[in-house]
Amino acid sequence: MRWLCALLLVLLAVPAWAQAERSALARVDLVNSSLVAEGRDRGRPRPLELELTISQPVPYRVYFLDGPPRLVVDFREIDFAGTDANALRGRELVPALRWGRFRPGWSRMVMELPGPYALRTAVQAPARGGAAGALVRLDIEPVEAEDFVTRGNALSALWDLPKPSAIAPPEAHRHTGRPLRIAIDPGHGGHDPGAQVGAIYEAAVMLGFARELTETLTRAGFEVVPTRTDDSFVPLEQRMTIARAGRADLFISLHADALPVGQAAGLSLYTWNQDADDRASRELAIRHDRDDLLSGVDLQGADDQVANVLMDLARMDTQPRSEAFAKFVVSELNKAGLAMHSRPIRGAAFSVLKSPDIPSVLVELGFLTDPGDRANLFDPAWRAQTAQAIARGIGAWAQDDAIRAGLSRR
Ligand SMILES: [Zn+2]
Repeated sequence: MRWLCALLLVLLAVPAWAQAERSALARVDLVNSSLVAEGRDRGRPRPLELELTISQPVPYRVYFLDGPPRLVVDFREIDFAGTDANALRGRELVPALRWGRFRPGWSRMVMELPGPYALRTAVQAPARGGAAGALVRLDIEPVEAEDFVTRGNALSALWDLPKPSAIAPPEAHRHTGRPLRIAIDPGHGGHDPGAQVGAIYEAAVMLGFARELTETLTRAGFEVVPTRTDDSFVPLEQRMTIARAGRADLFISLHADALPVGQAAGLSLYTWNQDADDRASRELAIRHDRDDLLSGVDLQGADDQVANVLMDLARMDTQPRSEAFAKFVVSELNKAGLAMHSRPIRGAAFSVLKSPDIPSVLVELGFLTDPGDRANLFDPAWRAQTAQAIARGIGAWAQDDAIRAGLSRR
């Protein structure tokens, strides 16, 4: 019998949020795991959703084998000992389910399928309800026999496994000993002037502030990667590409937008809101060169779905770092006695914050529509204090980030 398989996913990255416990193997939480079928049972194969809650995120790969059709998931590594596969909720939906240690460093789950299937989505996300650990969710759907993707064979799929030394996690570029590199992104520019109040243009005000901030940061020992240095239009995605090409450790977008008078005032920081529409992310994955998206992760030959899953994984690592950075900056602004928005840290689906691998924040320096904010933006002393507070925030964050990175490597 020839066992055909299709290698669909190779996930190389482990987000940092649970690396601290890496010494212990991941374990399955059966209570919060299940197999669910979509739609009514009409005696035909139905789409299936497998959810496995595990104690920490692990690299895994998914593929199908034929004769009989089955889904194989190789994890590196889950300790399945003492966990009965037949106790999984929804187990009766498939002819058979087995799991266990496969070979040193790898565990395998094999799910016999009632027919040929294809992978719809594969996601590894933080466990639900703020619980520790990760949720692996695989959606598969029935396909015609001719669409059952088979390629290579089971053995070559195993030999294809990446060597651990070849795996560079997305955070590999951090803490390399060189000065911290900050991408400074003055919003808007060129034919996009941003918010306008009278003769005041957000694009021009941000360019001016960016120059001052660049000076302050350089004096503080940081390196700056500017996304624009004149009044030219730079597309949002290109701004992220510039930051990545400059190997930036941190991305700061500068804005001072407009809202109806009286609705908003004060400085605030935005981080990416993961619950927001994910279209921008998909567009990015499709349009950008893949090796441009995630430095250090080889996506050649991978499909768009893999790119998306890897972006999710990398963002899981990056998102808490962005949020931590916002907190450090707000703390420094507070200490400097600078007036802030009543909710100084918020989330939003700003495309420019979507870099999966560079912690990113958007600083809304104020609202051009607010007279007080406008006065601040034109006050050299306020601008200097703000730039210095941001610089101190970067320094404090970098120290904290280095400590966390060190802890996660233990
Ligand atoms: Zn703006």
